[in-house]
Amino acid sequence: MTPLGAEIRELIAAQGPIPVSRYMALCLGHPRYGYYMTRDPIGLSGDFVTAPEISQMFGELVGLWAAQTWIDLGSPSPFALVELGPGRGTLMADALRAAKVAPGFLEAAAVHLVETSPVLRERQRAALASPPPALAGGVHWHARLDDVPDRPLIALANEFFDALPVRQMVRDRGAWRERLVGLDAGGALGFGLAPDADPSVSWEAPEGAVLEIAAAGTAVMRALAGRIVAAGGAALAIDYGHARTGFADTLQAIRRHAFADPLVDPGEADVTAHVDFAQLATAAGAAGARVFGPVTQGAFLRALGIEARARALAARASATQSEEIGAALVRLTGERDADMGVLFKALAVAHPRLTACAGFIRDEEPC
Ligand code: SAH
Repeated sequence: MTPLGAEIRELIAAQGPIPVSRYMALCLGHPRYGYYMTRDPIGLSGDFVTAPEISQMFGELVGLWAAQTWIDLGSPSPFALVELGPGRGTLMADALRAAKVAPGFLEAAAVHLVETSPVLRERQRAALASPPPALAGGVHWHARLDDVPDRPLIALANEFFDALPVRQMVRDRGAWRERLVGLDAGGALGFGLAPDADPSVSWEAPEGAVLEIAAAGTAVMRALAGRIVAAGGAALAIDYGHARTGFADTLQAIRRHAFADPLVDPGEADVTAHVDFAQLATAAGAAGARVFGPVTQGAFLRALGIEARARALAARASATQSEEIGAALVRLTGERDADMGVLFKALAVAHPRLTACAGFIRDEEPC
């Protein structure tokens, strides 16, 4: 039994079953035993690989998106270049390198990284140890978005929202009941349902349907959109998930590149849920922001020119390297199950003065 498993069992024995959202929050963010608190899970030797770790092209194109969006917003200066959940800092390092093509961008920027994991903060410090000299405002760390200074912002979030807790509601005998984590007769963690119906959900659905409520994700999106509407700016969220709200149980655990049981060995696996982009878009729209997308990651990266970038990199690479570049291009934009081009989506929210957004082609089929 993991130390976190023991602690969660004690908590449930004392206080009763806990919502799935609380369980997820403990698995990932428990100050001592939380998954992200104790390790760097990213990379081949870890549990999962993310887009910026697959190829420098990803961070470079996101950097170009940031630079173009900054120009389209009227080049606010100074502004905060924010990243939520920056992982190993690879995306930000690649983005800064690419964004220096926009005159004045780095001179106006201060980088603000929102990160809870002490282990990953160290990785980020190393990756950003020598940022481009033009970056006038330096690099700063915060535990929460609320702590980022109040100014125009361009925010980036790759595979961040999937790590935020969701509530799960289950359609049971004509009512919605919250899914809870409790103890079975043998004292092991097991799923159950709250005895009382939750009257706040009024959707019709067949018996057994699961509705996920992105409680934490919409709170972050509301805060981002509120700041953007008040002070100016834009935010880009890229993640695996769906464009429309549906009825599906997407709670998953990943350990060493394979699916695992989310209730086994809490704290040792990445427990996440697919991102419901419709809920994020609704939250941003309600706060007064303009919403672009979601579009598929493949469409977004192609619109930003990933194919041209791959060709340019391959032109000055060895044969082996250019094969790797081609494979990375397919992995990031392709449509096979193992690729990220369709499962992953990009969503931008911006100040309403931004009437078009790089990477989001107007007539693009929404996904
Ligand atoms: N964006 C990176 C890392 C994705 S993993 C990449 O694409 O490689 C998720 C990241 O979010 C990690 O850096 C993790 O420590 C961070 N994180 C998870 N929950 C968080 C929270 N509530 N607040 C801030 N950061 C969080």
